[in-house]
Amino acid sequence: MEKDLFGINRWKINLHTHTTRSDGSRTPEEVAEIYKKAGYDVIAVTDHWKYHESGEIGGLRILAGAEYNIGGGNAGTGVYHILGIGCSREPDLAGTAGPQEIIDEVHRCKGLAVLAHPAWSLNTAQQAAKLSGIDATEIYNSVSDAGESSRPYSGDFVDTAACQGLFYSLLADDDAHFYDGSDETKAWIMLEAGENASDEELLRAIREEKFYATQGPEIHIRREKNEVTVNCSPVSRISFFSNAVWAPERGHRGNGLTKAVCHVEPWETFIRAEVTDAQGKMAWSRVIRLV
Ligand SMILES: [Zn+2]
Ligand SMILES: [Zn+2]
Repeated sequence: MEKDLFGINRWKINLHTHTTRSDGSRTPEEVAEIYKKAGYDVIAVTDHWKYHESGEIGGLRILAGAEYNIGGGNAGTGVYHILGIGCSREPDLAGTAGPQEIIDEVHRCKGLAVLAHPAWSLNTAQQAAKLSGIDATEIYNSVSDAGESSRPYSGDFVDTAACQGLFYSLLADDDAHFYDGSDETKAWIMLEAGENASDEELLRAIREEKFYATQGPEIHIRREKNEVTVNCSPVSRISFFSNAVWAPERGHRGNGLTKAVCHVEPWETFIRAEVTDAQGKMAWSRVIRLV
């Protein structure tokens, strides 16, 4: 655990990892060692269609996980990858299950249903609108920028979905497969939860969005009436995103910025923020609903 700018203890967590149980290049034991050495408190092992239960591997806490992927490599046919995180039992799913069946079964198992890497899958807000119960999505997915694709960032999906009233918790995950320096220990969440938090308490904290997503920088967002404030570790860009295609005070640029403020218009329906540090590492706030 690490203390944040306000002295609050946070868990460092990666909720998306592959191993030799599916198409990852390292065994679960090797993966646990890599993440433990990098200072992580928890990972979820999310192999394709292979449930891994909660527990511990080599001294690293494991949250139950699996990734249910539908569609092949052609987004024109509809590609959906859905993570089931923290399921208390193995989801009972046939290989022919559709995305809504997967989400519903993950919920029956008390898990979080995460729409993984929507930018990589070329998911649209129209596709998302047909699904109910998506708890979270990945605003950033490390492996989607590692050799075989270059669409790691899903901010456009997140914003167009929010314009339609679809709001998700925003995770940053590795989705590590290769473990060659390109996709492991690159993006994670920093979660506020008690030192002895149970699986249920970790899931509740994620549902309540008590975290920020990051590649390194720290970001905090708060709103008081029409004023939205970001506090962060020193960065060179602080950006606000809402349903406004343009508005004052949305792009703050400089050296060593640690705070930015913007004021929202009465017709804005949501707002979120991102920061980028001098090395190009980013962090992402939750989405604040304004109506
Ligand atoms: Zn996937
Ligand atoms: Zn994956």
